[in-house]
Amino acid sequence: MERLKGKIAIITGASQGMGESHARAFVAEGAKVVLTDLNEARGNAIAEELGLDNSLFIKQDVSKVEDWKNVIEQAELKFGPVNVLVNNAGILGPIANAIELDEEQYQKVIEVNQDSVYYGMKYTLPSMIKAGIGSIVNISSIAGIVAIYGYPSLAYMGSKFAVRGMTKAVAVEFANKNIRANSVHPGFIKTPMMADATDEGGGSATQFIPLGRLAETSEVSNLVVFLASDESSYLTGTEQIIDGGMSIQ
Ligand code: NAP
Repeated sequence: MERLKGKIAIITGASQGMGESHARAFVAEGAKVVLTDLNEARGNAIAEELGLDNSLFIKQDVSKVEDWKNVIEQAELKFGPVNVLVNNAGILGPIANAIELDEEQYQKVIEVNQDSVYYGMKYTLPSMIKAGIGSIVNISSIAGIVAIYGYPSLAYMGSKFAVRGMTKAVAVEFANKNIRANSVHPGFIKTPMMADATDEGGGSATQFIPLGRLAETSEVSNLVVFLASDESSYLTGTEQIIDGGMSIQ
């Protein structure tokens, strides 16, 4: 049985890493998917592979309001009202402490990781209200649950804590419209963003992970599919931690 039949989803940052994995999993489960990203060549190639009846790639900078308006308009034109939003695009930014991080670097991380989630929800919610149902899945991080010494900057952590909070705000504001919102908090996942953290990349992240390994992107996609589907119909405003046990120590 296709678990996402009837779902019309927007997934940001879908040209590589976790976003690409979610897009592939969504189409495999019967959803129609709008993939967005800065990387047009790769996004278009993935959409073609997934089939243009099931998917559409739109070039988007998630930190730009005009781009969001365009994405919603094109998504509705092709597939009808959107009922799933996965706010996945994000950047790590520099590894720097509060003194080292400069204002421009701080602002950029906040725009891409935090402002984008506000815009995405603001401009997709009217479409979900038209659809009569909605599930918003906001990708935060374990760095939106606990602080991690010497790794992401305060801008990254601040943006991911904000995503966690905004998710709860929307969950409570729109529950009466049959719209749910949950945040996902990955630990270390094998994507281009984390290439340096792996043992092969010279990093040492695994020593902090009780399960002793980084996750495959598909392990996070399993969770995101569940949250997008009606199987999670009574879950809203929750924080879904997927970190191999890292944050329990
Ligand atoms: P990734 O491999 O770096 O992929 C992110 C994608 O987002 C890239 O295709 C990137 O395009 C795109 N992107 C960046 N800025 C954008 C913008 N302004 N507008 C539109 N697209 C943009 O990242 P990932 O590891 O899959 O991470 C996905 C999400 O999970 C992020 O929010 C990240 O913070 C979060 N996360 C990741 C981990 C992890 O271990 N990997 C852990 C916790 C949370 P370009 O490459 O062209 O810039």
